[in-house]
Amino acid sequence: MKYYSLRMKSPEVGFKEACINGQAPDGGLYFPQYIPALTQDWLKKFRSLSKAELAFSIMRPYVENSMPAHELFRICEETFSFEFPLRQLRDGIYSLELYHGPTLSFKDVGARFMSRCLSWFSRGDHPPITVLVATSGDTGSAVANGFLNVDGVEVVILYPAGMVSKIQELQMTTLGKNVRAFEVKGTFDDCQRMVKEAFSDEELKKNLYLTSANSINVARWLPQQVYYFFALQQWSAECPPVFSVPSGNFGNICSGLLAFKSGMPSSHFIAACNSNKVFTEFMKSGIYSPIKSVSTISNAMDVGNPSNFSRVMELFGKSHGDMKKVISSYSVNDHQTEETLWEVYRKDGYLLDPHGAVACRALMNYQEKHPGEPGIILETAHPVKFGEIIETITEEAVRIPSSVKPLLELQKQTEVIAPLYNELKNRLSRNELKY
Ligand SMILES: *Cc1c(COP(=O)(O)O)cnc(C)c1O
Repeated sequence: MKYYSLRMKSPEVGFKEACINGQAPDGGLYFPQYIPALTQDWLKKFRSLSKAELAFSIMRPYVENSMPAHELFRICEETFSFEFPLRQLRDGIYSLELYHGPTLSFKDVGARFMSRCLSWFSRGDHPPITVLVATSGDTGSAVANGFLNVDGVEVVILYPAGMVSKIQELQMTTLGKNVRAFEVKGTFDDCQRMVKEAFSDEELKKNLYLTSANSINVARWLPQQVYYFFALQQWSAECPPVFSVPSGNFGNICSGLLAFKSGMPSSHFIAACNSNKVFTEFMKSGIYSPIKSVSTISNAMDVGNPSNFSRVMELFGKSHGDMKKVISSYSVNDHQTEETLWEVYRKDGYLLDPHGAVACRALMNYQEKHPGEPGIILETAHPVKFGEIIETITEEAVRIPSSVKPLLELQKQTEVIAPLYNELKNRLSRNELKY
């Protein structure tokens, strides 16, 4: 499998280069040259496959001969080593819980898969790799955890001081070893700008082999297809489900759409957005106009210019009309998110996190117009990660899972820096002496 840049100005590369480069040199996103088609035969038997077998058969054509089959199988086993239960909330609404991984978010899947690929590709005498990420919470913890103890890789995380939840912060700042956390006295946008400056700093890159681990990397994007099939393995209704996906940078929904294009049964997709509604507006008008993001209680979706938008377009041959047949989009504001979270908790006894609540409300909106179409919401984070917000809505404490309790005893270890690129650069350059 070759990958081309959506800006068409870079050479095609294999899976290995796409994984190491992240983005193509022309600034475009990598996209697979063709979409492998699932056979009728496979669709008949996939329900009986184990998680690793299923993941392997989906990923194999994308990875092809850039690594031996047994290595890919091992990576699939290690990545999908936790549960993905489908739970019924009420008649016609199910929740696919993607939050049973080590950092309690769906991002564990992409981060674990990518870290293991990168580790395999950089074995031997490859220079040490520095993975640099800016995060508003979930990405940092998933990436840090995914890369913990991976030989030859150091992880550097930048997050805005005081703007992530307590559990998110502890997950990023208590690992030590090859993970460094910078607490930036600024906003998420400051963190992102500093990371961008580092990537364009040729002097820094002479001494450091920098790579990013954000959601545009194909090794994070592609494996997310797999849990859509886990949902179908647990699906017993006759008609295929509608998938409602809480969307920010659109990596998650874009992987579902890719699976759909390869033949996965599903009846519709819902791009559930919070008040950051560029995509919802685009679905209405056909005009895409990025905006500055606004902050909401589902903050992992506070994105004004979704980075995977160009991939979604490519999947539909840039046809707005074709997209409308498959995708609907709803924007859900904070008030409606709180209302839905409260109502589902009271009536159905099911606790959603704010991101799942956005997806749930969007599905309910869709079902008003399409009664009798059952749907699945992708629950992308464990409610405990957003405990502070949820407690103000339900007026009850969120039960803390036993796996989280030891974390709460730990002290964070961070390097506090001003939101200035030079502060980051100085520290990264000094760090280089370690090697
Ligand atoms: C990252 C994230 C999202 C958004 O996912 P995208 O792939 O960027 O669309 C949704 N919910 C949670 C909890 C997240 O961490």
